[in-house]
Amino acid sequence: MKFNKVLENVTTYEAGKPIELVVREYGIDPKDIIKLASNENPYGTSPKVAQKIQELSKNMFIYPDDSMFELKESLASKFDVNESNVIIGSGSDQILEFCVHAKCNENSKMLMSKTTFAMYEIYGKQTGCQILKTQDDEHNLEQFSAMYKEHGADIIFLCLPNNPLGECLDKEDVYKFLETVDENTLVVVDGAYQEYASFKDENKKIDAKDLISKFPNAIYLGTFSKAYALGGMRVGYGVANEEIIKTLYKLRAPFNITTLSLAAAIEALKDEEFVQSCIALNFEEMKRYEDYAKQKGFDYIDSYTNFITLKFGDMYSSKEIATQLLKRGVIVRDLTGYGVNAIRITIGSQSQNTKVFSILDEVLEENK
Ligand SMILES: *Cc1c(COP(=O)(O)O)cnc(C)c1O
Repeated sequence: MKFNKVLENVTTYEAGKPIELVVREYGIDPKDIIKLASNENPYGTSPKVAQKIQELSKNMFIYPDDSMFELKESLASKFDVNESNVIIGSGSDQILEFCVHAKCNENSKMLMSKTTFAMYEIYGKQTGCQILKTQDDEHNLEQFSAMYKEHGADIIFLCLPNNPLGECLDKEDVYKFLETVDENTLVVVDGAYQEYASFKDENKKIDAKDLISKFPNAIYLGTFSKAYALGGMRVGYGVANEEIIKTLYKLRAPFNITTLSLAAAIEALKDEEFVQSCIALNFEEMKRYEDYAKQKGFDYIDSYTNFITLKFGDMYSSKEIATQLLKRGVIVRDLTGYGVNAIRITIGSQSQNTKVFSILDEVLEENK
């Protein structure tokens, strides 16, 4: 059958392996599996959210409120913007998709960092647009500037902090770059891990309201999947000026969020204390990974997220290490497919991390 020709260049996104697969393939008991491959919050959902979901479970036959009024209002108040500045998506992934489809066709250009969130490129290729990438693995604004000057772009992605590497640009430098960007170029600031970055270092914090008032061509994206511990609920959002939001709305199907997801997100926003305590624990535990890497003599990237990227240089093959960890029930992300000999590990809970270190000890020993 003949399909849309642009799809010939599209690769399918490979999500972090689910627990179910490891059970099936390696016969490991689910309770012995440690899943640290998708940057979920290891402390689980806030108990207040879980209770709300139980209460609502009898309402599932009714369509959700398509205006999403309450969630938009909560987000508008969190960011001190108007509801007309907010759009909700099935994960921030869906907002990314809207942004790309709002800006790109086969004559367009998209600019991004070399090693960044894979979905930018996938959505781009769906439109047949040209994908431009800077040269370094980590975000490098001088390279962004040079490429922008040379080629221009219809849409630019800045992942702040960056997945899968964990680095984060300073706000000041980002703003200096944005001042040089044309008003017709949409700049997507992907803040999926902003809660972590701004906790660790004030200089990394991007305030959505400040961003969109200074740069009307920018959109800020956030998600409930990471710090807010709702990966299974699929809720994300975009904050931008009204013109951008209205345009993105044209791409949205009705009821794109479920009743339970909406309620979970609203409830999660009421329990900031839970989120902040998870973030604090995250950085305490991350320190253990840094010490571990130093002790074993390999490199890591200073991370502003809830994961850490361990670079093996010529000491080990990341693919081999990831496979052997998997056989022992530890799911991590191998970055070989991104052209980097590294693994990305989500920072787990204290007991998970302790187990990871002892299993990694064995695996590294065998690969010496
Ligand atoms: C996880 C993630 C997202 C979106 O996740 P959703 O679950 O779709 O909200 C977007 N960008 C980056 C960089 C991410 O890591």
